[in-house]
Amino acid sequence: VSKVMYNRVALIGLGLIAGSMSLAMRRAGVAGEITGYARSQATRDTAREINLVDRVCDTAVEAVKDADLVVLAVPVGAMGPVMAEIEATLKPGAIVTDVGSVKKSVLDAVLPHIPEGVQFIGTHPMAGTEHSGPRAGFAELFENRWCLIVPSETADEAEIEKLESFWSALGANTERMTPEHHDTVCAVVSHVPHLIAYTMVGVADDLRRVTDQEVIKFSAAGFRDFTRIAASDPTMWRDVFLTNKDAALEILGRFTEELFALQRAIRTGDGDHLHDYFTRTRAIRRGII
Ligand code: NAD
Repeated sequence: VSKVMYNRVALIGLGLIAGSMSLAMRRAGVAGEITGYARSQATRDTAREINLVDRVCDTAVEAVKDADLVVLAVPVGAMGPVMAEIEATLKPGAIVTDVGSVKKSVLDAVLPHIPEGVQFIGTHPMAGTEHSGPRAGFAELFENRWCLIVPSETADEAEIEKLESFWSALGANTERMTPEHHDTVCAVVSHVPHLIAYTMVGVADDLRRVTDQEVIKFSAAGFRDFTRIAASDPTMWRDVFLTNKDAALEILGRFTEELFALQRAIRTGDGDHLHDYFTRTRAIRRGII
């Protein structure tokens, strides 16, 4: 029995997420042919060399021609411009999806370019590493990870369910959300933590002269664990904060309040406050596998 769900899948962007999708689709046998396009010639050359997709195309238009599923896997700020380029080529009945880390601004940017007869269903696989580019992908990336599904209001229920089954076939668990709720949740669990990791490394770098390079030499487990994600792609993360401004600022405000309370407890020697706080957070953290 054929497991093929979409005869032709086009991946726009050939980085960590698209590459992992291609490898996972092949393993699950859910795609007929997988085409791919990335803006840089170097990325396309690498993708060809490592056989990342079945056919690497030199234009986005060529990649999406006759595609049943088009996946936008570029930085969030590039999704609108990519759609403007391909909208006239999308075939009737095609499904367009994205894998962006922000959802409301992506829907706003993409929906005006969705032609009659084509449907848009947003997704966000909550899986990643600090690595990027065409060599970073691996088939197991989505296994037992969440993939949040954020359909446009006009999408057909049957097509949403089909896309959910597709992500299940790639190993993910799916859950539906509104774009606003998605953006708040992700600001808490992903976006602001990345920002804090960036500042941690920035502070260590600022103090280089005081600590005489010792931060790098002695970087202990805490610093390493905590700052791993600070090596993530700068373009991707710039776009996340530019497009999820409201939720990121809201969560950052709350984070700052907590930090000020801890700062006061340290200054005043309020050991009870510190102990209570750390006890509560340890219990919560231990509940996360
Ligand atoms: P990546 O940097 O590994 O890959 C991005 C790809 O897009 C590259 O192939 C690049 O050449 C291409 N590209 C950039 N601008 C383009 C344009 N204008 N036109 C065509 N191609 C272009 O990034 P990634 O980690 O695969 O992220 C892709 C998307 O997935 C982003 O929207 C990101 O927010 C989202 N995402 C990332 C993670 C993560 O942890 N890395 C997790 C979930 C979702």
